[in-house]
Amino acid sequence: MSTTPLLTVEDLSYHYPGNNTPVFSDLNFSVADSEFVAIVGGSGVGKSTLLRNVAGLIPPSSGRIALSPAKNRGSRDRGFVFQDTRLLPWRRIASNIEYGLAGLHLSRGERRERVDEVLELTAMSAYRDRWPHSISGGQAQRIGLARALAVHPRLLLMDEPFSAVDALTRRRLQDELLAIWRRLGMAVLFVTHDIDEALYLADRIQVMRGTPAAIVRDDRIDLPRPRERSADRFASLTHDIADSL
Ligand code: ADP
Repeated sequence: MSTTPLLTVEDLSYHYPGNNTPVFSDLNFSVADSEFVAIVGGSGVGKSTLLRNVAGLIPPSSGRIALSPAKNRGSRDRGFVFQDTRLLPWRRIASNIEYGLAGLHLSRGERRERVDEVLELTAMSAYRDRWPHSISGGQAQRIGLARALAVHPRLLLMDEPFSAVDALTRRRLQDELLAIWRRLGMAVLFVTHDIDEALYLADRIQVMRGTPAAIVRDDRIDLPRPRERSADRFASLTHDIADSL
C-alpha cells in the first residue's frame, strides 16, 4: 500500500443550490490504493451526494477532493456504478459499454478489446448483442459494472448498486464484485444503507450521520475473507454499527 492515499477528501461541504443547510460539512477521509471502503448511513443522510461530489458530477460547495496523479493512456481516474443502471435502451449491450469509452482516444480495435474484456470479467459475454430491455435486473447491474470497469478506473464509485435486485442475486453480485476487485486491484468506494452488505464487502466502514452529516465512525474491518455472516464477530459488529446509525 502506498503512503500517499489514492483519494483525499479535505474539509468537504456541500449544500444544494437554494438550500442553506449543508447536506454535510467538513468531511475528511482518504482511500488508499486498492482499498475497499464502504460508507453506510440512513436514507437521506447524504451518501449519494457525497459520492457524486467525489465522482466530479457536482462541484463541492467548499473543501477539496484530490486523486493522486497517475494518468494511464486510455483510462479514467474514476468509474461510477449507479443504483439504476442507466443503460441506453436504443443501444445493444456491447454498444452501451463502448459508449462509455468515448473520448478516451482508443482505436476501434482497442475499444472492442475493452468491451470483450469486461464482458468476460462480468460473465456477460453471451449477452453482448442483446438489448437492455431483454436482460434481468441482476444482469443489468453486471453490465453497469462492466461499463464502469471498461475505463480501467483506479477508483470505482458504487452507489447502492445492488439494492434493486432480489436477495439471492444480491449475494451473488457481492461475491462477483469481490472476485473482480481481487483480480483488478482498483480501490472501491461503496455506498449502502445495508450494514450486512458493508461488513461482507469492505476493508473499512465509515458511518455518516446527522444534519449536516458527519462521519461519526471509521472502522477497519478485520474479519478474514471469505466472510461468514453466521460468525459471532460479524453479528457483534453489525449490532455495534447499527447502534451508531
Ligand atoms: P442518501 O444517498 O444518503 O439517501 P442523498 O445524498 O440522496 O442521501 O440526499 C441527501 C439530502 O439531500 C436529502 O435531504 C435529500 O432530500 C437532499 N437532496 C438530494 N438531491 C437533491 C437535489 N437535487 N436538490 C435538493 N436537495 C436534494
